[in-house]
Amino acid sequence: MSAKENVIKHSSENPFESMMSRFDEAARIIGLDDSDYNVLKAPQKAVMVNIPVTMDNGKVRVFEGYRVVHNANLGPSKGGIRYSMDVNLDEVKALAAWMTWKCAVVGIPYGGGKGGIKCDPRSMSKGELERLTRGYTDMMVDVFGPDKDIPAPDMGTGQQEMAWIMDEYSKLVGRSTPAVVTGKPLVLGGSAGRVEATGRGVMVSTRSALSKLGINPIGATTAVQGFGNVGSISAMLLASQGMKVLAISDISGAYFNAEGINIDEAIKYRDGNKGTLEGYKGGSMITNEELLELQVDVLVPAAMENQITDENADRIKAKLIVEGANGPTSASADTTLNNKGIMIIPDILANAGGVTVSYFEWVQNRLGYFWTEERVYRRADRVMKTAFEAVYAASQVHKCSMRIAAYVVAIKKVADVEKLRGKFS
Ligand code: NAD
Repeated sequence: MSAKENVIKHSSENPFESMMSRFDEAARIIGLDDSDYNVLKAPQKAVMVNIPVTMDNGKVRVFEGYRVVHNANLGPSKGGIRYSMDVNLDEVKALAAWMTWKCAVVGIPYGGGKGGIKCDPRSMSKGELERLTRGYTDMMVDVFGPDKDIPAPDMGTGQQEMAWIMDEYSKLVGRSTPAVVTGKPLVLGGSAGRVEATGRGVMVSTRSALSKLGINPIGATTAVQGFGNVGSISAMLLASQGMKVLAISDISGAYFNAEGINIDEAIKYRDGNKGTLEGYKGGSMITNEELLELQVDVLVPAAMENQITDENADRIKAKLIVEGANGPTSASADTTLNNKGIMIIPDILANAGGVTVSYFEWVQNRLGYFWTEERVYRRADRVMKTAFEAVYAASQVHKCSMRIAAYVVAIKKVADVEKLRGKFS
């Protein structure tokens, strides 16, 4: 099977509408009034730029870039920057809103934002990526700022892009400003534990959920879709808890091993193979669709949006879905999954470990004093466990799914602050 045939299908469901349908349900439960509803549903700011970049062949290409600030009630907006050909305004709007709810669920003092550039980073040279990233930062200099809007990595971006943003922004404002961006390399003011943070939060949420379901993690089975930052670290940490990872996948396809994939070996293979699992021999090849439909205790979608939809929801056999990715389950799949009794730990809770440690990075940058990895893990685990219990309690009180309960907790918090702060007219 070629990598092309194996690429996961991206449903056309609009992620912003998916987000809004959950928002609507939670708003009904908390009795959100019309004024707050209207304010919270719309992003506060959406900026679109066209970034001219001189490519290595001397020609200029123009890239579409976005930054959306959904809501800054709880603090400066926070959210990653995505490099992907799928980037579009609706996607960035949905991702920005999810950041608002995510920061509110875990109780960190940030609003929600998100950015993206429509590009294929894998087909670009390092020099082209640097010029693109610096160009985007130049055009967003009035949007970004340590007290305004703080980017971070997302799909297709990592520490190197964050270092370029920090450098470019610092030059533009005339002073070293590490707190303008998180997910930086350690030597540039990054936080210990940031690279592992999202996967670690997925592991902590999985453990909390398994305990509610009465499933022993030792020997429990899992399948993980996506083998980038979130997927590979989630898989590694779930395996470290005694779980058996039956399948993993990335853009090259999915790999199944009934005895359990050796995750450390798979990571080593990927790192020595231009970042992909293409040609990996530690499991037999299956399709990404087959991976999602495996008989496992825990399914971790950690690649991209709209992987579980009304087309495949009735074939999902996992007892627990822990959303490492943002928006992997479309709203149209919720009812089927809920009727099947599958517990879903929603993205805005399950993958919030990343933004939590980003917040710790920002705090450490402003303190000018750095914490040990052990301290970062201890504090992040505590945040994740507390948030999980609050959402679980809300799901019991309102007799709703964990997803809607997470929205209830988040929307209530942001709406309460909206009332306290008031409007400007
Ligand atoms: P990444 O770029 O490191 O990895 C993405 C993975 O998904 C790769 O293995 C890639 O091969 C796979 N993938 C992408 N497109 C695919 C396709 N069309 N077919 C098959 N596989 C495909 O990204 P990441 O940082 O791990 O992010 C993954 C998800 O987690 C995204 O939804 C992101 O928004 C979310 N997320 C990331 C973080 C973080 O800290 N990195 C935090 C919260 C949420």
